[in-house]
Amino acid sequence: MEQKNSLTRRILTGLALGAGTGLAMSYLPSCNLRDLWLSGLFDLVGGLFINSIRMLVVPLVFVSLFCGINSLGDISRLGRIGGKTMAFYLLTTGLAITLALIVSVVVQPGQGLNMAELSKHEPTIASRQSMVKTLQNIIPNNPVAAMAEGNMLQIIFVALLTGISATLVGGRAKPVVDLFESANAVIMKMVMLLMHLAPYGVFALIAKTFATVGLDAMMPLLKYTLTVLFALLLHMTLIYMGALKLIGRLNPLKFFRNFLPAMSVGFSTASSNSTLPVTIETVEMRCGVSGSVASFCLPLGATINMDGTAIMQGVAVVFIAQVYGIPLPLSSFLTVILTATMASIGTAGVPGVGLITLSMVLESVNLPVEGIALIIGVDRILDMARTVTNITGDAVCTILVAKSEGEFDATVYNANNSSE
Ligand code: ASP
Repeated sequence: MEQKNSLTRRILTGLALGAGTGLAMSYLPSCNLRDLWLSGLFDLVGGLFINSIRMLVVPLVFVSLFCGINSLGDISRLGRIGGKTMAFYLLTTGLAITLALIVSVVVQPGQGLNMAELSKHEPTIASRQSMVKTLQNIIPNNPVAAMAEGNMLQIIFVALLTGISATLVGGRAKPVVDLFESANAVIMKMVMLLMHLAPYGVFALIAKTFATVGLDAMMPLLKYTLTVLFALLLHMTLIYMGALKLIGRLNPLKFFRNFLPAMSVGFSTASSNSTLPVTIETVEMRCGVSGSVASFCLPLGATINMDGTAIMQGVAVVFIAQVYGIPLPLSSFLTVILTATMASIGTAGVPGVGLITLSMVLESVNLPVEGIALIIGVDRILDMARTVTNITGDAVCTILVAKSEGEFDATVYNANNSSE
């Protein structure tokens, strides 16, 4: 416990020092020495850390979902837990985007902005996928290719099917189940070992981002940036803290203290997927959730639950409409709520993906996709903040589901804090 808390402190120190160093460096003129630090050392250390946890994601998602399903025991229990999880994920995403739309209509983040001045960059929209294609692609042609490509939805599908089949087979599947259970323990041990790199990795990633983006890039879009941050904060306080308090009868502040290590890694990597190994470890070891529920709900959440992303998209829609002077009728708001909720299911939790799916949301209400160019400059910082919201939503849901199923240990949830 002692060691865990000191690791949390070291990660937070890395985060604070990284932000300070990065901001200071953003004011230095570009010179060889500065570039050597940013593109050399910080890139190296940050990249090593991200790769070290990312390499575990594909095996972890497959193995942990498989084990999660098997340890739930029977299919009806799986159906019940799966139903609760999906209901929570969809409902909170719907609420998130509604909240974001209300906040933006009140704040009017795009008012008074000159479009010509803002649109200096061309948008780099990598790909747009139709909803039908996304749904169709949930079933892979080749599961090995799905894993090699890291296609999360496909991996989840294969893992669910394999896990359900093993449960139905029963005794004869025991050797397979034993093998995956021991693989799961080995992977979690790897996560714990690699977490010792976290303070340095977090420092390097944050320093590089802040030095590259700098505060200056944010100034013209300050109102937009602050509106997104405010809506994220509101969602975390109202919905997550409210749910923990009212549904779970748990102290929400303790949750945030327990969950801090995962939040710092989510913030610095801007990727729910990359943070997943740490999220699982934190929710199990510090929040008191059983392995079976954590390994079922969290990999699902990292892929299909993105409240923070939905919030950014809600604010961005209103912002772009205002900047271009296009009025949005009420029906457009409903379309945005639906499309953004669906978009959050179909996309993996990797950096910047929210901006790509934003094109789908904008198209659904006939807003110019070029509008994305306006917000691209500040998106990295917002990506970090919304990733924190995304993984927090996954964790809150997992805790509530675990509690309702008697798979939650309140002593662990409360103990971590009192010893800190
Ligand atoms: N980076 C976010 C995540 O991984 C997704 C996004 O909004 O771009 O959760």
